[in-house]
Amino acid sequence: MPPWYDVNAWNARFGNDSQTVHSLRRFRTRWLKQGRSFEEALAELSPEVASDLKAEIEPHPLQLAERHDSQVDGATKLIFRTDDGLLIESVLLRAGTGRTSLCISSQVGCAAACRFCATGQMGIARNLSTAQILDQVVQANQLLRDEDRRVRNIVFMGMGEPLHNPANVTTAITALSSPLLFDYSPQRLLVSTVGIPEEMVRLDDQFPQVNLALSLHSADQDERQELIPLAKSVPLSRLRETLLKLKLSAKRRIMIEYLMLAERTDRDSDAEKLIAFLKNIPAHINLIPYNSIDGADHLTGSTQASRERFGHRLKEAGFPVTIRYSLGADIAAACGQLIQRENREIARQLRTSHAAADS
Ligand code: SF4
Repeated sequence: MPPWYDVNAWNARFGNDSQTVHSLRRFRTRWLKQGRSFEEALAELSPEVASDLKAEIEPHPLQLAERHDSQVDGATKLIFRTDDGLLIESVLLRAGTGRTSLCISSQVGCAAACRFCATGQMGIARNLSTAQILDQVVQANQLLRDEDRRVRNIVFMGMGEPLHNPANVTTAITALSSPLLFDYSPQRLLVSTVGIPEEMVRLDDQFPQVNLALSLHSADQDERQELIPLAKSVPLSRLRETLLKLKLSAKRRIMIEYLMLAERTDRDSDAEKLIAFLKNIPAHINLIPYNSIDGADHLTGSTQASRERFGHRLKEAGFPVTIRYSLGADIAAACGQLIQRENREIARQLRTSHAAADS
């Protein structure tokens, strides 16, 4: 059978008789929208169809390895293991309003190598498959079912640069927004990138309602490429041209992620550069506090007073601004670090065993 997230394949595989079509639809609703287990959802089907599906679909290409619940707020970090033993993270964020967001990974490790990010220091980058991307949503909804909740917003902001894995990420977005599968409104999905111009334009063309976030972090080219080595190949002028090509409006603003680092990105002159960079671009700016990571001792987070002063200047210039306070600070402090060492070790073992097999 073609992948289960290829909705056209279902009817072709099982025929078009209305009873089967309806029971398959109920099965998918139970499994993908209501957070029931795969086995539980199979009860919607005739024994023959259920047994075929059981034989043909691997419902969980990821294994839940650890769960860490924040003691200070509603965040939960889920650590999953891939079939070759590597670890990835997803984070559930429960807001007081009852809304729940899920931050998902698109790669193991990341080639962008951002200095402030433990994932970027991992030194490996491997794409997650579409099924692995989607399984993070499936398993999160299964966990939330006990709490009478469902993931409401999905952000591609976990491990990896989503636009370095565009084929699997776009197939996942298609499945997430399909009424016949997960049925998420495209406005509830957000893809965050460090800035891959041609892929940003392509994604915007294909999914004009899906939200985009740009991890900008500095509007000074030297500083930005110091923080994000990948930025050397994409000057700010090219990034700005790209933003001007996107279908943005007051209703669909680009989210600008901006890390507040003392004496690097938080000075008055940095605010003025940011305002100039975003001139005439519908943008919403998120000012993010910095969680220190191993191996980046030269970076220090801004004080709350500096973040507020910076935010005030941006608001004066007419931009909507959110000053973020770390959600799940007690578990987020270890973001990427918890698994960094173990992934390096597993990657080393895999390389050794591949080399032995080749010799
Ligand atoms: S911040 Fe994002 S893009 Fe940069 S290294 Fe980390 S995961 Fe990759």
